Amino acid sequence: MNSDSTPENSAQRPQGAPDLEALAEKLQPGALTTDPSVIEAHSKDYSLYSPVGAAIALVRAKCVEDVQETMRFAHAHGIPVVPQGARTGISGGSNAVDGCIILSVAKMNKILEINPTDTCVTVEPGIINQDLKDALRPHGLYYPPDPGSVRISSIGGNIATNAGGLCCVKYGVTRDFVREIKVVLADGTLTRLGRKTVKGVAGLDLCGLFVGSEGTLGIIVEATLSLIPLPKAPVTAVATFPDETAAAMTVRQYMGEGRRPSLMELMDGMTLKMLNAFGDFGLEEDAGAMLIMQSDSDTQVDDVREFERVAKENGALDAVHSDDPRDSEDLVAARRSVQPAYEVYSRAHGGGQLLDDVCVPRSKLPEFFRLLDELRARTSVTVSMVAHAGDGNLHPAVFFDASDADSTAEAEKIFGEIMQLGLDLGGTITGEHGVGSLKKEWLPKELDEGSRRLHRSIKDAVDPLGIMNPEKMLDLI
Ligand SMILES: Cc1cc2nc3c(=O)[nH]c(=O)nc-3n(C[C@H](O)[C@H](O)[C@H](O)COP(=O)(O)OP(=O)(O)OC[C@H]3O[C@@H](n4cnc5c(N)ncnc54)[C@H](O)[C@@H]3O)c2cc1C
Repeated sequence: MNSDSTPENSAQRPQGAPDLEALAEKLQPGALTTDPSVIEAHSKDYSLYSPVGAAIALVRAKCVEDVQETMRFAHAHGIPVVPQGARTGISGGSNAVDGCIILSVAKMNKILEINPTDTCVTVEPGIINQDLKDALRPHGLYYPPDPGSVRISSIGGNIATNAGGLCCVKYGVTRDFVREIKVVLADGTLTRLGRKTVKGVAGLDLCGLFVGSEGTLGIIVEATLSLIPLPKAPVTAVATFPDETAAAMTVRQYMGEGRRPSLMELMDGMTLKMLNAFGDFGLEEDAGAMLIMQSDSDTQVDDVREFERVAKENGALDAVHSDDPRDSEDLVAARRSVQPAYEVYSRAHGGGQLLDDVCVPRSKLPEFFRLLDELRARTSVTVSMVAHAGDGNLHPAVFFDASDADSTAEAEKIFGEIMQLGLDLGGTITGEHGVGSLKKEWLPKELDEGSRRLHRSIKDAVDPLGIMNPEKMLDLI
């Protein structure tokens, strides 16, 4: 919250050392720990440059009552609470803050009901996205949202960050699949938001409000998600280009012709080299850029042939397709390895990496790359690129020498300039990774005064003491 509200909220919190043993007695045995090494191991997510505070306790909730008891206790004592899923976030959203209780729901990971008639599933928040997909497959059902972290991130975290992923270009993001959630509010109240029905317009869309709220409004303890029939196996096309702009022109033209690929991913030449070094994927690393495209529709063969045509019209070096599932799997596996490959590269080149997450209207992609090239030409730090190109969602990675103050300062400047570029082109500072603490200074730059006022009012109404994930997304609104 802004400077008016945070100190006031802090001042309202009751002071004095809390009796954590009293809380432990109300929870399932072993749910609460104050062991410093265990707390430290749970204090940070995957983000490299977000502050990590010192928590006073970790609660690994085993049931909804554990969450409620923890929130009642925190509310009574004015203790900040940091909700956690699988800690794969890359914006510092689930990092501990000083004096907080870390409240993990990772152990609440059961599927409560699979309902083929109503094409929905009800789950606890800690279930891993891929585990849910695997459990649905025998029923011929599918839950589409597929962040790159599909095998390691939780559904609760996906909802709290409104996670995107590779297939969003056709199926949409997490928000499009959330029908109902159960939430524990800051004072421990359990409430149901949304509904299990396909339709429903009674009252305000409070369920939607919590999707993407990054743990700043309450704890998601149950979710009912829409499903679709298991899609056909995809046919995959791959095209290489002399540069990213040619690849971006291809995306713009292909999507403009009304095609609906189920995946459209871009990697620049530097990323291809990093991937080959990381996993010997045998990618064409002399290319300036590569597009991977998939179609799982009834017109999939036509879709990939049209993609090849459009790619060649825009100067592709090569464009081919395959309906061999192993080719698809290999290419998607390479794409999903980008983040680990970046980490290996970063460690070998000074240890610094800042990952942007801007999203621009896809019609603006060629202009984005033109301007990014200008920016690259005048900076000393390295900027590589992987993108959910079909969505206009770009992840430029800024690599730098973390031991060098000048290099670090330059990287931070470029990281910000890329966000400004996204805003200038009518886009957003974050398409899917969230604001967390990493981009909290940038959120007020994206939102106008009316929107900031609404954000402040909602936060104050839902969490008057300001204990829900403070110092994060809404800190500077
Ligand atoms: C290799 C890699 C690839 C990735 N690819 C993608 C991608 O393609 N698309 C994408 O969107 N993201 C991606 N991410 C980022 C990350 O995986 C997502 O943000 C994911 O949704 C976080 O889920 P989590 O369970 O790990 O949540 P956490 O990291 O634990 O938490 C994330 C945020 O949600 C809050 N939160 C978590 N659980 C709850 C809950 N039950 N109730 C309330 N608040 C909660 C936390 O407080 C925090 O603010 C990637 C990360 C990695 C490491």
